[in-house]
Amino acid sequence: MHVDPNEIVTHLVGLKDVRILYYARRGPVGEIAIEQVLTDPRCPRCDGPTRVKDRPVVAYCDLPFGGVPMTILWKKHRLVCTNHECPVKSFTRGDHRIAAVGCRLTTRAAKWVVREIGSGQHISHLAHTLHTSWDSVNTAMRRYGESLMSADTKRLKETTAIGLDETLFSREGPFKHKHWSTTVCDVVNNQLIDAIPTRDFPEVARWLHDQPEHVKGRLQYGCLDMSRTYNAVFKVVTPKATRVIDRFHVMRHALLALDECRRRVQQVQLGHRGRSGEPLYKARKLLVIKATASDPQLQARLEGLLALGDPEGEVALAYGVKEAIALLRDRRR
Ligand SMILES: [Zn+2]
Repeated sequence: MHVDPNEIVTHLVGLKDVRILYYARRGPVGEIAIEQVLTDPRCPRCDGPTRVKDRPVVAYCDLPFGGVPMTILWKKHRLVCTNHECPVKSFTRGDHRIAAVGCRLTTRAAKWVVREIGSGQHISHLAHTLHTSWDSVNTAMRRYGESLMSADTKRLKETTAIGLDETLFSREGPFKHKHWSTTVCDVVNNQLIDAIPTRDFPEVARWLHDQPEHVKGRLQYGCLDMSRTYNAVFKVVTPKATRVIDRFHVMRHALLALDECRRRVQQVQLGHRGRSGEPLYKARKLLVIKATASDPQLQARLEGLLALGDPEGEVALAYGVKEAIALLRDRRR
């Protein structure tokens, strides 16, 4: 498609003071090189004349244009104050309209990220859209989001329940090492509040600890999956809040425990893992599917298989517990 770099830069900062050096397409990504137009730049300290020392190029991720991810290459000016008595040696001219210091996203891309995350988008999805890394999006989110969120404490003010959930966000390196993050949700208003790039106790506890007193003090429920870490976070930081485990997570653990029981009994009875044709192996699906409980035929079939493979009634007991939890899960609030 046709790309007019002038149009992009107009959207970026307005053309004033910014000059386009070139536009190029690099594979799937569009690249625009820009520089600031400096007329007689002065030293910020002594207002004396300066000279250009260096022109470092810094890459920023911008919003896609017409579906094409954009990189802004900003050819900066590293200037030196020529006044020998001035303590300022060298400095780089910035422009927060283009990008903030320490942020690898342009200002407008960063603001877009904050809005998207506020409406429930995931960092990994946004990173993919922008053709950048999870870290870049997360840093931008934290940098811009913090100021926006402290201005907008309304949604935190009104919540009495915060949920912590672990999310797999990337597999890196030759061994596909898993990286986990923590999503923080306002469970009352069904809103994503924040994302923490780890699921470790110190960082997650720090996050909760750093919330304003009125939020921590009013918190009635801390919702979690069955993670010991999140349990400890709520227990230590907000001991008065009741810790609640999501019923779907409870169900998952009940199913895992039932399956573990079935395999253990199988091993004890026959001395080997389940093989096709054996009663407990045949029963494995009937034990987990929802239909068994409400279908007399399936129920009878399961009972027959358990009578053969589960003489002590251990699997039957575990199945009964699982079904009781399923009833609890399906009960409407
Ligand atoms: Zn100076």
